[in-house]
Amino acid sequence: MTIAIIGAGIAGAAAALHLGRAGRDTVLFDKGRGVGGRLATRRIAAAAEGALAFDHGAPFVTASGGTFSRFLHASVQNGHAALWGDAGVEARTVGMPGMNGLVKAALLGSEVRTSFEAASLSRTATGWTLTAKDGATAEGFSDVLVAIPAPQAAALLGPVHPAFAAAAEDSRYMPCWTLMLAADGVDPALAGTPETALAGEGIATLIHNSAKPGRSAGTLVAHASPAWSTARLEDDREAVAGDLAAIVTGALGLPAPAVAVAHRWRYARLARVSARGPDYDADAGIGIAGDWCLGPDVEDAFHSGIALAEAVLTAGRPHVAAPATAR
Ligand SMILES: Cc1cc2nc3c(=O)[nH]c(=O)nc-3n(C[C@H](O)[C@H](O)[C@H](O)COP(=O)(O)OP(=O)(O)OC[C@H]3O[C@@H](n4cnc5c(N)ncnc54)[C@H](O)[C@@H]3O)c2cc1C
Repeated sequence: MTIAIIGAGIAGAAAALHLGRAGRDTVLFDKGRGVGGRLATRRIAAAAEGALAFDHGAPFVTASGGTFSRFLHASVQNGHAALWGDAGVEARTVGMPGMNGLVKAALLGSEVRTSFEAASLSRTATGWTLTAKDGATAEGFSDVLVAIPAPQAAALLGPVHPAFAAAAEDSRYMPCWTLMLAADGVDPALAGTPETALAGEGIATLIHNSAKPGRSAGTLVAHASPAWSTARLEDDREAVAGDLAAIVTGALGLPAPAVAVAHRWRYARLARVSARGPDYDADAGIGIAGDWCLGPDVEDAFHSGIALAEAVLTAGRPHVAAPATAR
C-alpha cells in the first residue's frame, strides 16, 4: 500500500526519498502551489528589470556532515544546488535555480499533489483517508506521515492522535517579517558581504541575495528580528514593507527602491523543539516529522524525515543518527 506524506518541505521530501530508495510508494500532499515550504523563492515583477527572484525563506543551508552533506554534494552535482562562496557545501549551499531546488532534488520520482490542504484524517479497514479543506479526498493509504509546521500538525493530529498533537503543541516558533528589496546601488553597498546585521535597528539579518549564484542583480533580503516581528505581527503588510525599507535604505545609503515587498512568516524558525522528537506509531500507521521534532535548521528537518522513514521501514521507534545542530 502507498504511504501518504503531508507536507512537501524538506522533512516530507527526505522521508519520501528514503522510502523511495527502499522501494516503497509514497504520495506527497502540500497546500502550496509548489513544493519547498520554507525553502522558498519569490519572483516579483519589476518594471525595468522584468521578474526578480528573492529567496525569502531560509537564505542558505549548512550541514554538519553525514547524510545531509552527502545529499547536498549529490544535489550540487546534479544541478539542484550550488555553493555560495568557496567554503564548501557544509558552510553555505543554495538551491538552484531557487531554494526549493533542494526539495525537488529529494522528490525526483515521487508523486506530489499540490494545492491539497489536509484538513482531517480518518482511518478505516481500508486504510487512511485524507480530506482537504475544499472537500477533496484521497484514500487507501497504509500510513500517513505528517511533516508540516507544529501548529498545523497539532490541529490535524488532535482528533486522531492526541499524543502526537500534544508533542506538536510542545514546540514554539519565532515569527519573521521578511523584506524583499531591489534598488540601484545594492550590489556596491553590500559588496563582499554575504550577510550582516543592522544591530539595534530591528533587522536581524541582511542578506546579499544577488551575491548568490544565479540570483537577480540588485536584490537583498532582510529578516526583521524576532522582537520586531512579534511587535508588528498583525500590522499591515505595506506599512511593514515601508518601515523595513526605510531602515535598510537609510543604513546603506540607497535610493528609493524599485521593489520593497514584505512577507510575514508566522512560523519561521524554531524557538523550542518538541521533546518527543520524530515519532512513529506502527499500530496506528501514523508518524510525525519536521523541524519542530529535531531542531531549527534545514538539516534538522531533513534528518527528522529520514528518521521517520527508517522507523516506518523497520516498524520501530525513530532513531536519529546525526547530531542535531541545536537543541
Ligand atoms: C525567514 C526564515 C529564515 C530561515 N533561516 C534559516 C537558516 O538560516 N538556516 C536554516 O537551516 N534554516 C533556516 N530557516 C528554517 C528552515 O527553513 C526550516 O527549518 C525548514 O525549511 C523546515 O522544513 P519542514 O519540512 O520541517 O517545514 P516546511 O518547510 O514549513 O514545510 C512544510 C510544508 O507543509 C505544507 N503544509 C502545511 N500545512 C499543510 C496542510 N494542512 N496540508 C498540506 N500541506 C501543508 C506547507 O505548505 C509546506 O510546504 C529559516 C526559515 C525562515 C522562514
